[in-house]
Amino acid sequence: MDKINFILKGEERNITISFSNMNEIEEIIYTCGYKGICIITDENVYTHYSSCIDNLLKKISGSLMILEPGEKSKSMKTLGDIYSELDLRGIKRDDLIIAFGGGVIGDLTGFAASTYLRGIDLMQVPTTVLSQVDSSVGGKTAINIGNHKNRVGSFYQPHNVLVNIDFLNTLDKREFNNGCAEIIKYGCILDKELFNIIYESAALHDIRETEKCKLEEIIRRCIELKIDVVQKDEKDIGIRNILNFGHTLGHVIEGVEGYQKYKHGEAVAIGMYIITKWSERKGYTEKGTTDKIKRILLKNNLPICVNGVNSEFVYNSITKDKKASSSGVKLILLNEIGECFIKNVSLEDLSIMIEEIFN
Ligand code: ADP
Ligand code: ZN
Repeated sequence: MDKINFILKGEERNITISFSNMNEIEEIIYTCGYKGICIITDENVYTHYSSCIDNLLKKISGSLMILEPGEKSKSMKTLGDIYSELDLRGIKRDDLIIAFGGGVIGDLTGFAASTYLRGIDLMQVPTTVLSQVDSSVGGKTAINIGNHKNRVGSFYQPHNVLVNIDFLNTLDKREFNNGCAEIIKYGCILDKELFNIIYESAALHDIRETEKCKLEEIIRRCIELKIDVVQKDEKDIGIRNILNFGHTLGHVIEGVEGYQKYKHGEAVAIGMYIITKWSERKGYTEKGTTDKIKRILLKNNLPICVNGVNSEFVYNSITKDKKASSSGVKLILLNEIGECFIKNVSLEDLSIMIEEIFN
């Protein structure tokens, strides 16, 4: 088990996902004939993986940019710094840019790669659970504008994604669990079997070393599910919306206390639980589903409730979200575990729903 190849209809690109070690990067660089490379990473990732990055750079002529970790690097300012550095280091159209890190590095580097010289080949080497199962696959790139997350971005498919489970060993527990929310999301919306495997397993964090193969299988399954959805709707105008399960409320919750309180996956966990609780009460979702979601989230140390939000804050945040239109929002609800549907909700009904949930 080492590669998943797929071709996206529109752009006919092969993306290789390989469960392997750093040698793969070297191999791809030689096979594809890249002359120059530039690796972009952050300080934390570099602290843990300096020897493997430095070894690679010794063998292949290339440059390295180490950014400050954290969401604040997904800014116009850092993007500008990256462009200047790429220019200074003479990066050319047929060179390769490697995003080596979590979702922040992947999104930011992806956007830089998609725009510098109108597009340079991109390799994603995701090092967090969240970026391995979600953000490194599918081609969404972005930076934030102020507190507006992912406000400016592009669809730009990486030429290669290299997933190595061993990178997850150095993640702290909260970061690891944060990504597990997205894993659980795939089970909820698309794959009952996957959900049940996680439901019956010990916490994913606790099996990362003892049952590495199982974790690898779970991550691989998530990537396959994501590829399948992206192949059907690369530009997110239809079915890809289902990946947004838990995110409409999740984005609101993430914004609590100026994005300081909850991480993305934690907020999505709360969002999945709250929306399912409401939809089960409304009769849209099979009885007992909310309870299953509660158990699986709590076992993986993820939160299910939020304090400090009122209905007005929620309504205002949702209607300002980039996914909202003037006619309403698309809610992703579950029929049951493993099966979801998209429900168009008018702004009026949205307001009623929020009152029902938060009052
Ligand atoms: P995410 O992937 O969750 O969207 P980030 O890119 O912000 O988000 O990564 C989360 C944090 O984990 C950052 O502080 C980052 O530097 C750190 N990090 C990323 N990968 C690793 C790793 N493999 N080991 C340890 N820390 C890591
Ligand atoms: Zn998400």
